[in-house]
Amino acid sequence: VYIILRGENMISNINSYLESAYQACRVGAFPERKFQPGILDAELTRLAEKSRGLIRIHTAGNSFEGRPIRHVAIGTGPVSVLLWSQMHGDESTATMAICDILNFLPDPGYSEFSGKFLSALTLHFIPMLNPDGAARFQRRTAHGIDMNRDARLLRTPEARILASIRADLKPALGFNLHDQELSTVGSSRDITAIALLAPAFDASRSDNDVRLRAKHLAEVFAGTVGKIVPGRMAKYDDSFEPRAFGDMMQSWGVSTLLVESGHVPGDPEKNLPRKLNFIGILASLQAMVDGNLNSAGTRLYDSLPFNGKRAYDVIVRNVQVDFGGGNVVGMDLGISAQVDTHSEPPAKLVDCGDLSTFVGMVEVDAAGKLLPPALCQLGAPFAWEKL
Ligand SMILES: [Zn+2]
Repeated sequence: VYIILRGENMISNINSYLESAYQACRVGAFPERKFQPGILDAELTRLAEKSRGLIRIHTAGNSFEGRPIRHVAIGTGPVSVLLWSQMHGDESTATMAICDILNFLPDPGYSEFSGKFLSALTLHFIPMLNPDGAARFQRRTAHGIDMNRDARLLRTPEARILASIRADLKPALGFNLHDQELSTVGSSRDITAIALLAPAFDASRSDNDVRLRAKHLAEVFAGTVGKIVPGRMAKYDDSFEPRAFGDMMQSWGVSTLLVESGHVPGDPEKNLPRKLNFIGILASLQAMVDGNLNSAGTRLYDSLPFNGKRAYDVIVRNVQVDFGGGNVVGMDLGISAQVDTHSEPPAKLVDCGDLSTFVGMVEVDAAGKLLPPALCQLGAPFAWEKL
């Protein structure tokens, strides 16, 4: 339990405090998670205008196609935190959560939280690092380069902007904000709602003070958010990737937490993962403000299972495929529309057989349905809605 004392005000339960703040401060500018860079720009401008000067926006540079990349700062504290989102253009969940945070922190109604917070920390957001990819809702930059494999060579202007902001600010803490592929928690059939990683800074995945502090951020994040989605958090693949920004940031001395927004059945616009970003980021930073971060430990974080791959968009169970001559075979069908980290029609049949250890975001029981084999070609589009 976190007790925050400030004057006469007291926040006795940070979790419920932030949950109700999120309900009140969630911005309505993004009806879908696929949105054009101009929508974000307009929203950032609106938030800055109503923040009474607390939010500072400037243009850090331009993308390859000339779209502005914004750097948004709030707070006056001595500890710098760098939070970057949407370096993969189709990964916008945390971008929306950043706007929710920028709506919450300047609100005078929450000064019992934000007063101490903003005098201890200065938050630097880059809400959309890859606006060219975002305009197309694709992972890669306009060059076709995966920016998160460009941290060493810095061939893309977008990667150079992130690296130079890091070099200028020398932030103590970093949040590397992404959306992940449809995944499950370990070998279970629970779909991962959010995954965390304190990336390695070397191939032997050793610990130092920098990485340990990132694990402490992960510990507080997991402890807070885990109360909302128990059993639906995982750890992201931890193998060392020297071309990735998280790993490089860690080696440059920035305690960096990777946050991967996952999936929730029935929530295609990812409202719940967005809320988990809001709560997890603010709660883990609050532990830094309170001086509780170093004593957070790593027990919960260490115990998170790694992401597994036992989920499809749709599983059609118990169909009968009639191969002729009395040869009828019962099977489950796994159907996926996943392209990188978003869905794109048409959905295709990607697996068939015993899928009892798999889970579908949507599950259809087709017991009694008899299908011809021509309809069940692996790799071909599969119109499951018509069953
Ligand atoms: Zn990503």
